[in-house]
Amino acid sequence: MNPASLQFCAVAGDANDPLVQRLHPEAAHAYRSAFQRDRGRIIHARAFRRLAGKTQVFTHRYSDHFRSRLTHTIEVAQIARTAAHALGLNEDLAETLALVHDIGHPPFGHAGEQALNAVWMEYGQHFDHNLHALRIVEHFEQRYVGFRGLNLSLAVREGIVKHSRDYDADKHPELAEYFLDQRPPLEAQIIDLADEIAYLTADMDDGIESEILQLDDVRAHVPLFANFFQQLATKHPHTPEKLLLQEALKQMLDALVGDLISATVAQVHAASVQSLADVRACPHRLVSFSPEMEAQRRQAKKYLFQHLYDSSELMRDHASGGAMIGDLFAHWMRAPEQLPASHVARIAEEGASRVVVDYIAGMTDAFCIQQWNAVRAQNPSS
Ligand code: MG
Repeated sequence: MNPASLQFCAVAGDANDPLVQRLHPEAAHAYRSAFQRDRGRIIHARAFRRLAGKTQVFTHRYSDHFRSRLTHTIEVAQIARTAAHALGLNEDLAETLALVHDIGHPPFGHAGEQALNAVWMEYGQHFDHNLHALRIVEHFEQRYVGFRGLNLSLAVREGIVKHSRDYDADKHPELAEYFLDQRPPLEAQIIDLADEIAYLTADMDDGIESEILQLDDVRAHVPLFANFFQQLATKHPHTPEKLLLQEALKQMLDALVGDLISATVAQVHAASVQSLADVRACPHRLVSFSPEMEAQRRQAKKYLFQHLYDSSELMRDHASGGAMIGDLFAHWMRAPEQLPASHVARIAEEGASRVVVDYIAGMTDAFCIQQWNAVRAQNPSS
């Protein structure tokens, strides 16, 4: 066994594992495991394909080769699968959770999420992309004659809800089946940090390429990156900076993943965890970076907030996306009969504000802009 293996606390995922239970029982597949089937269902979902048209950080006008929410998702899946494999965990479950982790995101990145949350708060509700992702896979995807949704296994639904945060059982009685008083399995815990690793490195890459970030400034303020870059520049003095940048980012990503693996093994041993039940009962999450790497990660993230995410260039794009979402919400609250018929039909049962939020949250950036233009053409004075 690999010395780093934590196989003793992996999710088994075999036919006897209660975590592969589905709401609607289905016969076992001839040659695919439960989590492999879940992965297939997610990849073939409409909401998954729409991730290609949703902003991760940069709206589409910057470049066709910057990350979209779909390519970000694939990068997270690659990292999560690598870490799960090295740790002897259930790779299929980790990969499936990575592929679904951002499926509940609205258009226009975090600005879109904030805008949707702000308008819905006036109706006493909060928009939460993890809970929205659960609605997508349980209700909105319709591809099976026997049931609504994708009928995913319990481990995948639990991971969708809990991969990045814990929920208070008193405030969320509807989530009772997801073991809210326990930690999620390591395969789900990996996702949050695989996400961090993916976007830290990708956003430095796209940020420098967009010229919002300057390579020299990143080198001066982000030691996690600068150390790799400096070593490479010394060793390869005649290599173009662009290539050194790519190599340094690759080394940085590899160092973060390597640290995540070794620190997680150390945490599991330090907490005397010997089974999945111990992982669940542990008062804290066990997947983590070492304290030294965690300090460097925080420093890099703080830098990206100050110089990229909160830069005036990106704020301008995000503000206009957020404003469109606010306008569309107000429009359909005034005229809900103008929603698609399938949405109008849900209003009596679920209330107009929830139906409008669901509709907007599912949109790509381009469809949202198109809808906003159509509404404006209808009401030229507003
Ligand atoms: Mg993500």
